[in-house]
Amino acid sequence: MAEFKKRRPRQQRYFRPRNCRFCGDPKLVIDYKTTDLLRQFVHEDGKIRPRRQTGNCAKHQRKITNAIKRARHIALLPFVGEVLR
Ligand SMILES: [Zn+2]
Repeated sequence: MAEFKKRRPRQQRYFRPRNCRFCGDPKLVIDYKTTDLLRQFVHEDGKIRPRRQTGNCAKHQRKITNAIKRARHIALLPFVGEVLR
């Protein structure tokens, strides 16, 4: 039963910027039409990247999430499972 306690090797950490880009630059506007910007917050498989990877603050991550969902709805961005481009 001691095998239960075996430690897994430490997971590879993603690069994680600690600062929110949108707080740092007020000119950056989060909008569902700015797909070039939104694509930076989406994985290749279409998933929204979590906050620990984007480094956004809660407020802006929420805005990003809403914008991506809206963009998906009008087919500017793919849903999960589809291939980009
Ligand atoms: Zn922010």
